[in-house]
Amino acid sequence: MNQTERQQYLTTEFFKRFGQLPTLFSRAPGRVDLMGSHTDYNHGYVMTMAIDRDAWIAARPRTDRQISIASLNMDGSSTFLLDDITHDNAVPWTNYVRGVADVLQIAGHNLSGFDGLIHSTIPFGSGLSSSAALEVATATLFKLFNNLGIDSVGLALLCQRAENQFVGVNCGILDQYSSALGQTGRALLLDCRNLTTETVALPKNFQVVICDTRAKRALVRSEYGKRRAQCEEGVRRLAKFYPGVTALRDVSPAQFDEHEADLPETVAKRCRFIIQENQRVLDLANALSNNDLSALKSLTADSYLGARDLYQIGCPEMEAMMKAMNSAPSTIGARQAGAGFGGSMVSLIDTYSLKPFTRHVQKEYTAATGIEPKVYPVNSVAGAGPVVPV
Ligand code: ADP
Ligand code: MG
Repeated sequence: MNQTERQQYLTTEFFKRFGQLPTLFSRAPGRVDLMGSHTDYNHGYVMTMAIDRDAWIAARPRTDRQISIASLNMDGSSTFLLDDITHDNAVPWTNYVRGVADVLQIAGHNLSGFDGLIHSTIPFGSGLSSSAALEVATATLFKLFNNLGIDSVGLALLCQRAENQFVGVNCGILDQYSSALGQTGRALLLDCRNLTTETVALPKNFQVVICDTRAKRALVRSEYGKRRAQCEEGVRRLAKFYPGVTALRDVSPAQFDEHEADLPETVAKRCRFIIQENQRVLDLANALSNNDLSALKSLTADSYLGARDLYQIGCPEMEAMMKAMNSAPSTIGARQAGAGFGGSMVSLIDTYSLKPFTRHVQKEYTAATGIEPKVYPVNSVAGAGPVVPV
């Protein structure tokens, strides 16, 4: 479906549900991390890219304070009043929309109602951040309808707050930031403490390819919480030796070497991974700028090994996918993406080799696991905004 077809499809479906035509479409992209697993909540660095898979909301403002929201991707719909925002346990996906409305109002913004219909091309729960895209598309709609004076960083922070406090998922800032501030043709080297970015151009002959293991990600929520707690414990213990340390971001590799033995074994492994992964993000930026292919290969390989052996967020399907990606002749680099425990992985390949790469990965991965993976190219795009008519 091209943009015009998608707009027509949404317009037709909107009319069926609401009996009127939408007046505005907001869009917000998903994202993929090229380096930097679990570094965001440790106030570190991530190399991230907003991708050409996105959430759209077709909408029409209302003169009252009612929000009616439906999705072409999920069953159920929900209607609520801005004066009485509660959780919807019957249609839980609507809590992402409710949460954004709630945090915007708590932050003092005046909102009015709308009828909205969502359509997303981001697979759910595969590590490409469909939830943040939905939040950021919702916030963008409120911003456009109500002329809110919020910049993109402020918008990302409010959406993160909606996911943390209203939905109840303790995510870092990476997903919402990438969705709000992505740039066409560039990856973002995001500093998750200062909320600033340097942009890094991707070499012209590079193609980023998502390799979705389609493995069930049952562990991700509970294990994510445990990893966060282990990192926090590491910070508490290391701060005794290095006053002023408030996040793993503050600990240099040399400082860590000094006191690794003072940490419980598992905590030490988690901290070592984060401290090394932070450095790898900075090294990747240099490798991309210098077109240093051997550094790209080793940095992505080390990232995966650390994720598997130190942070322990791997699974057999991810191992099989790594083998499939790395045994393709055109692979420049390959690693995990998102939070791990299955879901999507990411490759950098030579643009001209997309077809043979895809065939190779599909064949090898299916032979090893019996699962048919989803393998598709993604390109970097601009962050959220109105859908501009073509
Ligand atoms: P991820 O963000 O990695 O895709 P999450 O579990 O954080 O995975 O978010 C997925 C959830 O977000 C879905 O189960 C659903 O509740 C909600 N969601 C995302 N996109 C949509 C959509 N287009 N329509 C309805 N709900 C959506
Ligand atoms: Mg999410």
